[in-house]
Amino acid sequence: MSVSITKITVLGSGVMGHGIAQVSAMAGYQVTLRDIEQSFLDRAMEKVRWSLNKMVEKQKLSQAQADEIFSRITPVVDLKQALAGADLLIEAVPEDMNLKKKVYAEVDGVSEQKTLYASNTSTLPITEMAALTNRPDRFIGLHFFNPPQLMPLVEVIPGNSTNAGMVDMAMNFIRKVGKQPVLCKKDVAGFIVNRVFIPLVHEAAYCMDRDNATMTQIDSAVKFRMSFPMGIFELADYTGLDVIHKATVEMHSRDKKVILPHPKVKQLFEEKSLGQKIGKGFYEYKGEKYERINLTEQEAATYDPIKLLAVAANNAAWLITKGVCSKEELEKALKLGMGLKKELFVTVQEFGPQNVVRTLNELAAKYGQFYEPDPYLVNYRG
Ligand code: NAD
Repeated sequence: MSVSITKITVLGSGVMGHGIAQVSAMAGYQVTLRDIEQSFLDRAMEKVRWSLNKMVEKQKLSQAQADEIFSRITPVVDLKQALAGADLLIEAVPEDMNLKKKVYAEVDGVSEQKTLYASNTSTLPITEMAALTNRPDRFIGLHFFNPPQLMPLVEVIPGNSTNAGMVDMAMNFIRKVGKQPVLCKKDVAGFIVNRVFIPLVHEAAYCMDRDNATMTQIDSAVKFRMSFPMGIFELADYTGLDVIHKATVEMHSRDKKVILPHPKVKQLFEEKSLGQKIGKGFYEYKGEKYERINLTEQEAATYDPIKLLAVAANNAAWLITKGVCSKEELEKALKLGMGLKKELFVTVQEFGPQNVVRTLNELAAKYGQFYEPDPYLVNYRG
């Protein structure tokens, strides 16, 4: 399959859709941005304008370039008009399988034969979504991270029926928009980054209960001893407890081995403590402005994060054992998607692989098979 992509249609102009439209327009594509109400599109185009203005201020773009990029995005409400001539559709409507089902039925009714389909879903099964459409062989997952304008990683996830040409097209498209693709070879719950990240939020909550540790003790240890860009509770608040809760439910419904849900996440979601964006999540925040939690090396020295490292490494090992990605691709995804400052398996080496495996065995004896060490980790010698 050799295809030339010139015209992109992005469905959904929310948090992700407007950013994907912008990075596509910046790479020279003609973009149609579709939402169900004109006011949503107006708001999205304002955000694109704001983001382009920032780039002009920082002298990354000239005013003329910014204007040209902006003019390449056409906001449209009518679905048929939005899809006319589209080479590639990127769907970024809310994460709800019933809604996606409805949207793909509508899209199938009006899209041209040549249009390739991609979904920006973070957790829904690509194979199942592809099967809802009249072109499962030309359907793929393109998981951009938030915000797409800044985050360099995109996970590319073929479903069981996706053809090889589609994978090549997707990898090339992602490079062309200036991002780094990582191929997630199997359509597994959480793909690569969320498979490591989401279970860790729950594990951190268990560490509070089981080790009687404070949030800043755990977060300081995660930041300074596991080389994370910030603490894990801090990262959860930054991501949003709504995103984490929904991902948890979806991932756990697909695969019980991926995650051991801690009730605290659901509780925060239900009481609408959604994190940074509303001023309260695991932590409380004073203002609207992005705020960092005060984490210190002194506090990091008071808590051993080996249980957290063990859970992260175990999920990472599972991905390698199952052939979802190589160790190199895994490390690339964790660096670009989670901002890890040091490779995860280098940290495992520093803590001692045998100590990590022993920790998992102890946890498995107490709390069940979720913690059973993966064979890759058991045999890992560095
Ligand atoms: P969002 O709620 O911010 O935006 C979704 C937009 O889709 C809304 O503007 C809504 O009006 C619109 N919409 C609803 N039905 C539509 C239709 N039929 N046609 C066109 N537009 C329609 O959601 P979001 O956070 O941008 O998430 C979109 C997708 O991206 C989800 O699958 C989500 O899992 C995924 N994702 C989200 C993040 C994140 O951090 N927010 C990160 C990666 C991936």
